Amino acid sequence: MYQIVHGMAGVAIGSRLGSPILAFVLGIISHFVLDAIPHDSLEARDWENNGTASFVKKIALEAIIDLWILIIILLIMQEGFKIYLSYSMIAGLVGGILPDYIWGLTELFKIKNQALEKFKAWHTGVHTLIFKPIYLPLKYTAVIQIITLAVLIVLMNK
Ligand SMILES: [Zn+2]
Repeated sequence: MYQIVHGMAGVAIGSRLGSPILAFVLGIISHFVLDAIPHDSLEARDWENNGTASFVKKIALEAIIDLWILIIILLIMQEGFKIYLSYSMIAGLVGGILPDYIWGLTELFKIKNQALEKFKAWHTGVHTLIFKPIYLPLKYTAVIQIITLAVLIVLMNK
């Protein structure tokens, strides 16, 4: 899932908890639960793998845009709806997006060790838990991610 979805899951979890540590741990767990929902798009995969720019550069560009949209949503929440982030919400958000950053940074800096390889295999494995052909047309993955986001916003303690 995009960071927007993972981040908002962490925020929703944190909004219901008083403990930042618990929110952080549940944020990490929520990452893998959400990644099990089919969400990878064929179009994004083709764009990432073809053309002259490197795969890592394209992933980095996607991550930056994704992060900016997440930040804009958080700003709209605060400025428009007066929903301010508590420590638990921030901790949940960090836990929610952390697994993808661990993956991304190891790709970017070509870091290799056994624990990270295991983590990567597990992270990719989760993507195929519910549904085997993990890549779907964008029209489905966009709807899946938007519905998930809407559910998270409804679940948030406002
Ligand atoms: Zn992930």
